[in-house]
Amino acid sequence: MCGKCCTGFNEGEVYLYKEDILRLAKHLNVRGNKGLRDFAETYLKVVNDSFFWKEPGAERGKTYRFKSIGFKFTGDDEHCHFLKNNKCSVHVARPFQCRSFPFWQMMVSSKKNFDNYTKKCKGLQLLQGKFYKREEILKWAKDEYEIEKKYFFEMKKHNFNILKVYPFVSKKMLQE
Ligand code: SF4
Repeated sequence: MCGKCCTGFNEGEVYLYKEDILRLAKHLNVRGNKGLRDFAETYLKVVNDSFFWKEPGAERGKTYRFKSIGFKFTGDDEHCHFLKNNKCSVHVARPFQCRSFPFWQMMVSSKKNFDNYTKKCKGLQLLQGKFYKREEILKWAKDEYEIEKKYFFEMKKHNFNILKVYPFVSKKMLQE
């Protein structure tokens, strides 16, 4: 609960996928399309995303690059808008990425990535808190991968046009 992973967003993004956005909007009592658009312009931004995919039967896969949605940050320390007094003010409705840290696919599948994050994260250095079994950790990582894959397929279906997937994204957000 140091709040460090909710600050310094210039170093990385907090990605939000469809369910994350709708859950958070509902929690904040956002209503209607106009409400969703205003909410998005205030708290969200369009960010770069990528996904490695090998078509069934293909010899090689490739890394696809496309747009996704992340949190906007605020203040000199680049913190999340929802971080208040070093605590998450939307804890019950926080995005999956916040919920599942540090059991992300890229951390679980690479000791190097895990070690690099550990250098920056006091929580990982202390290794205190709830104990998770191996199967539970793998399940978090798999769920995270499946969420990203689902979004990738939706984007691919729509020719990687984020406006088709998220109609609430405004021109202003695309230009920011
Ligand atoms: S939603 Fe909560 S946990 Fe996620 S970055 Fe913002 S303050 Fe941190």
